[in-house]
Order: sequence, then structure tokens, then C-alpha cells
Amino acid sequence: MKREKSEALFEKAKTYFPGGVNSPVRAFRSVGGTPLFIQKGKGAHIWDADGNEFIDYCGSWGPLILGHANPKVVDAIKKTVENGSSFGAPTALENELAELILANNKYIEKLRFVSSGTEAVMSAIRLARGYTKRNKILKFEGCYHGHSDSLLVKAGSGLVTFGNTSSAGVPEGVVNDTIVVSLNNEEAVKQAFAEFKDQIACVIIEPVPANNGLLLQRKEYLQFLRDICTENKTLLIFDEVINGFRIGFDGAAGYYKIQPDIITYGKIIGGGLPVGMYGASAEIMGHISPEGGVYQAGTLSGNPVAMAAGIAQLTECLKPNFYQDLEKKTSFLIDSIFKNLSTPIANFKIFQIGSIFWIAFTDKEFVRSAEEIDGDSMKYFRILHKELLERGVYLGPSGYEVGFVCEAHTMDDLERTAKAFAEALAVAMK
Ligand SMILES: *Cc1c(COP(=O)(O)O)cnc(C)c1O
Repeated sequence: MKREKSEALFEKAKTYFPGGVNSPVRAFRSVGGTPLFIQKGKGAHIWDADGNEFIDYCGSWGPLILGHANPKVVDAIKKTVENGSSFGAPTALENELAELILANNKYIEKLRFVSSGTEAVMSAIRLARGYTKRNKILKFEGCYHGHSDSLLVKAGSGLVTFGNTSSAGVPEGVVNDTIVVSLNNEEAVKQAFAEFKDQIACVIIEPVPANNGLLLQRKEYLQFLRDICTENKTLLIFDEVINGFRIGFDGAAGYYKIQPDIITYGKIIGGGLPVGMYGASAEIMGHISPEGGVYQAGTLSGNPVAMAAGIAQLTECLKPNFYQDLEKKTSFLIDSIFKNLSTPIANFKIFQIGSIFWIAFTDKEFVRSAEEIDGDSMKYFRILHKELLERGVYLGPSGYEVGFVCEAHTMDDLERTAKAFAEALAVAMK
């Protein structure tokens, strides 16, 4: 496989950007080698600068549920941008996307559009603090919520800890308001509520944690969080930036039938353009400016071109059986991978929910917390990733990341992928 053009572009990029990239995981550090510079995408396929073609399971890290350059999304973008790209004044398209969402999601009544998942979560945290007049937040080790200061905090060594910053530049004062506990551990949450009685503004969780492996939680655990938040007048935030519109149109709240107090969305909602949102009851959202005292704003919020892309994509997601078909395809892919193996591999698993899958080298039946992931097993993923690239299959370049099946994957794509996996795994497990 030729890599010369990508390699030359990466050399140049390193002179412009830290690590040669504009978002760290793209640098291929955890799998080694040079990132592929992508030239174009169509359906489930992408082509790099050297003309190599791949079946793509990264899907821009989740947003592209219809695949690349879906004609309806492309048309909507073109038609809209011809009439101007931003006004800093309201447009009907914002109403249209909001109606589409609210008519099909009974877990929120009002919403605010922003421009990224990070911004959505950061704003939701401020709203929770403003609403409860409390400062502390509780998060879980193994959940990612974007890169705002109060959330770049990882667990320390105790059961209930103020975390350590997971980034330089995050002030200690901020860290001291973030409590970090393990997933799937009710005791730790109870202890945190006992220790910080009447101080916790919100509990924030990815109800389908999918940024550090796929750490599927038990419904009873999510219900436990709902109940303990209610008892303590603490808001429960579901960060559904990755699983929203992915495991169903109404995301994890609809899947588990649990009513959180605030929900954040991103990724799929923008049809491949930068959109995020947060939503809640009308009463809670009434605390956002200009109605209430919690300030939050954005020059490009509700951007018409991005709204049009979101409307086009979400309209497709509402077609009958859209999510069932995606789930079936994903199960077919996973079954085919196992069927194609020449010998069974005891410590090779693929976890799935809807069209999200995660490849794990573990003999555990369930992996529900970050501590249960064996970092050493990533050595297998590194080889698998490289061997799959050689065979025309593109996974996100980290064993901690999940893969996505999109509407555009064909049966032929899935069968070819399964064959490639069998060969690549044989090399990885040697
Ligand atoms: C991707 C993601 C974010 C951050 O969204 P950006 O658009 O990258 O800022 C936040 N939370 C979750 C759960 C995510 O998956």
C-alpha cells in the first residue's frame, strides 16, 4: 500500500499543528504509523491522498450515520449555503430542526443549539450549577464529556476522590469541584452523596459509555443514579453526544426509559457539520439567558447550513425500521467476523449496542468499568488495526474507540470486512 502522499502531508502538517493534527487521536499515536490524509468519502467508503480505498467504520467518530456525502444531506447544504452561510439572527431552519427533535423525543421540552459536544456539556454543567446553586459535580472514570476544564479530571486512588487533572492547565480550584467515581459501583456514589451532602449540582454520565471502550451499564444502575439524584435534588445529566440519534432517535433516555434532567447531544445531530445541543424541561431551560441568569451564547449557534444538514440527516433517521436495520447489519457483521475465524480466539470479544461496536481483547463476559480494561491487551489492537488498513478496512486509530456501522454499508462491505478481520486477527494473535 502506497503511503507517500499521506507521509508528505503529515511532515508538512507537523510544521503547522502540534503533533501534526487538529485533534490528538487523529495522530495515530496509539497504533503507530502515519495518519492517512483523507481525500474524499462516498457512502461507507473513504479514499486517502494516495488513492487507497477503505471501508470506513470510524464515520468521523460517529456523526455520519448515513455514510459520507449522502446526496440528501449534500443537497440541503448546497441549497442553504447559496442563500448565505450565517446571519447572527434567527432563521426558520432552527425551528425546523428543533421541531423534528422535540416531536420525536419526549424527554426534553426545550433546547439550545451550540456548535460542538464540548460546548453542549460545558453549558449543561453551568445550567445545573445555576439551577441548583451548588458547585460540585460528579462524573465517572471512563466517561468522556469533551474538553472543558471541569471535565478533564480523572479518578485518583480512593473510592470517592477529587480527581487529578487529565490535562495540564486545568486549575486545582476547578478540579476540587469535580468528584470522580468508578462506573457500575453504587457504593461509591452513595458515599459521595453522604460525604458531600447538599453540595452536588449534578451527576453526569454517558448512559452508553462509548469513548473508553463500550462500557455498557445495567439499566438498574442508571435507574439507581436517577433515584439517588432525585432524593438529593441533584440533576442527572445524560451526555448523549455519541449515543444520541445512534441507538435510537430518542437515544439512551428512550432506550432505557429513564428521564434525565438535562440531555446533551452532538455528532449525528449536525449531519457532519458542527452542531451540539442541550435540552431539558421548559422549567429548567428557563434558567438560560435571556430568560434566566445562566449565560450561554454563540456567534455560529444554530448556523443555517449546519441546521439544514441536521434536518436532512435526522429526517432519514426517522424512516421506518431505520434503527432496526442498522442494528441487524451490525449483528450480521459481528456474527460474520466470528464465523470467518479459522480457530476460535478465547480472549477476543466484540461488544455491541445498536450500530456501535467495540473490539476488545478480554476473556470477561462484560466490561462495565474503565478499570476492567486491560491496557496491555491494546498490543493486539495495534496489529489488528495495521493489518486491517492493509486489507482496506479503516477503524478509528485506538483500541479504546468504538466503531460505527452506517446506513451506507452494504452486505458486500460487511462480508469483505469479516474476511479481512479473520486474516488480520490471525496475524495479531500469532
Ligand atoms: C464526542 C463527545 C463529546 C465532545 O464532543 P465534541 O463535538 O468533540 O466537542 C462529549 N461527550 C461525548 C459523550 C462525546 O462522545
